[in-house]
Amino acid sequence: MLELRPNCECCNKDLPPDTADAMICSFECTFCRDCTETTLVGRCPNCGGELVARPIRPAEKLLKYPASNRRVVKQDGCVAAVA
Ligand SMILES: [Zn+2]
Ligand SMILES: [Zn+2]
Repeated sequence: MLELRPNCECCNKDLPPDTADAMICSFECTFCRDCTETTLVGRCPNCGGELVARPIRPAEKLLKYPASNRRVVKQDGCVAAVA
């Protein structure tokens, strides 16, 4: 099950579980759409993998399966993955 992390690892912007602006890689590193499209150019800076839009969990399912509140932020900020 996806953690649905609460923020962007790059800029620490809040990414609530119902936002369409959250992007994740296969390891669920989580970024906002702005960072994904500008800084990261669609690649996860941690694993080099593809970043795709995070699916939105239906509100009634969030009651039983709540989103993570564990914030993950890259200490040194983000740079694009080395190709
Ligand atoms: Zn961001
Ligand atoms: Zn990753």
